Amino acid sequence: MIDAPTVEDARTLHAASENLLEQARKRAVELTAGGREIDDHQVVTERVAYAATEARAIRELIHHVDRAQSEGVRDEAFELSCVAGAAELARRIHERLAPSVDELGLGDAVLEETFPASTRALLRRAGSEAVMREIGKAALGRGGRIEWPLDEMHDQVRAQVREFGSNEVLPRAEHIHRRDELVPEEFITKMGELGFFGLSVPEEYGGVEMGNLAMILTTEELSRASLAAAGSLITRPEILAKALLGGGTEEQKAKWLPKLASGEVMVGVSVTEPDIGSDVASVKCRAERATVDGEDGWVINGPKSWCTFAGRANVLALLARTDPDPSKGARGLSLFIVPKDSFEGHEFNYEQPGGGKLSGKADATPGYRGMHSYTLQLENYFVPGANLVGGAEGEGRGFYLQMAGFAAGRLQTGGRACGLAQAALEETVKYVVDRTQFGQPIADFQLTQYTLGRMAALLAASRAITYSAAEAFDEDERAAAPLAAQAKLLSCDVAVEVCQSGQLMHGGWGYAEEYPISRYVVDALVLPIFEGVKPVLELKVIGRAVLGS
Ligand SMILES: Cc1cc2nc3c(=O)[nH]c(=O)nc-3n(C[C@H](O)[C@H](O)[C@H](O)COP(=O)(O)OP(=O)(O)OC[C@H]3O[C@@H](n4cnc5c(N)ncnc54)[C@H](O)[C@@H]3O)c2cc1C
Repeated sequence: MIDAPTVEDARTLHAASENLLEQARKRAVELTAGGREIDDHQVVTERVAYAATEARAIRELIHHVDRAQSEGVRDEAFELSCVAGAAELARRIHERLAPSVDELGLGDAVLEETFPASTRALLRRAGSEAVMREIGKAALGRGGRIEWPLDEMHDQVRAQVREFGSNEVLPRAEHIHRRDELVPEEFITKMGELGFFGLSVPEEYGGVEMGNLAMILTTEELSRASLAAAGSLITRPEILAKALLGGGTEEQKAKWLPKLASGEVMVGVSVTEPDIGSDVASVKCRAERATVDGEDGWVINGPKSWCTFAGRANVLALLARTDPDPSKGARGLSLFIVPKDSFEGHEFNYEQPGGGKLSGKADATPGYRGMHSYTLQLENYFVPGANLVGGAEGEGRGFYLQMAGFAAGRLQTGGRACGLAQAALEETVKYVVDRTQFGQPIADFQLTQYTLGRMAALLAASRAITYSAAEAFDEDERAAAPLAAQAKLLSCDVAVEVCQSGQLMHGGWGYAEEYPISRYVVDALVLPIFEGVKPVLELKVIGRAVLGS
């Protein structure tokens, strides 16, 4: 038996972490003039933003354990993984902020004051080798699944999607990845029938409106089966649906939301350009008013890049510059729903009857295959006036609508990351039980158990912050946007770490395409890049939110 740390211990570690963070945050607020001069203090800002994210995850871990306990649900492995996750994050906060105390003008004393010897001892005990090995053994005994306690409705959603993912998607995931094939149509049809695309679309627009936690659980289970061939299918309709709900006209909502919810319309999101990535406000792709064949609308010209699923998609949610005055920046951008034909394969050329052209060529990638991400070229491509999101009032509001959509996309990506990390944990458990070296299953080695325990504890932290962000999104999407960004930041890093740990435990076979863990690693690597590349997410979204108040 181990001397198991409790949620009270996690509370003590949380208080210490918040104390250190708050002192660092206050000084960073002063240094950056309330977040306005972040670029003059990027490194310190990055550390404070990340530490704030970790502190928030500790808070949510405690919240979820408290809630389970208050509902009479007691599962030792779940609680232990949450408390150990809290300890791991508290240790990281201390290590993360320690190198910046001089820049922050705090001095060494703050470290001793906030993490005195008694707290450091607790830190060691709550995240000890014995604790991590205990969690690792629990993961081994449960096939890698330390189930998160959910209410009945959400438990059913998880079970239903897991069954679909395990039976329909998992058996085909490796084939799709290795041959770089397109997501099979049957997946889209069945997911549409099961209502997976309409989970956060209101019922009046044809959705099932089960809320964001149901959407996250669905995403997570689909991503466990395959990030690219299933788990990411929901992201794009989710982004466009949120943009429409936030700023679409009534006619646009009535026309497009039911089609998004049913899966009849698949979406590609087209923001990035060859020369424009994180600096979205500088998007150059140009939309100009035009009348073609007697219809009023816009013609779009310019290149776009990294438009995932642009081949199969029936529409692109495309951000273009409607006001050529460069001084307008973000206020010169508008969001369009760009209809197109659907194509299979890695390349397409589409010509409109009026002469407009759209061509696409997929860029080869090591992972995240199945949806294909295209470089696009638009030449005098005509879009009806009715497809400017928000109508006349939407002109110049595209950036803000797109950002609202991205907030939803980030939340969803937190779920994708949890699913991938879960898949890696399960596959690793399977492997270490089967693999024998030095006369014993490698699962019996202490270091294997310890590593599995840390993987499970980190995954608990990802789930805690992502599920809380989903619930906060139900309350107030705008207010919850920074939390969604934090969920994305932490969960994506955890997914990379967990997948790579799993790969190491597979030894040489972890590098073989034959084993799914090699796919999980290359899939995970894209997570910190899209939906706001990690450094920019830290500085421009989380840093601003943390230092701006
Ligand atoms: C597989 C894949 C799929 C994608 N799918 C889509 C999609 O469907 N639709 C879409 O529109 N886009 C998509 N993207 C694009 C993705 O969103 C961008 O790659 C991402 O936003 C980053 O832009 P960038 O690649 O131009 O990097 P850049 O913006 O050039 O950033 C590169 C690096 O520069 C540094 N940097 C940049 N700005 C700053 C700063 N202010 N301060 C400090 N450092 C900075 C950071 O280190 C950053 O990581 C996809 C990308 C990939 C790889």
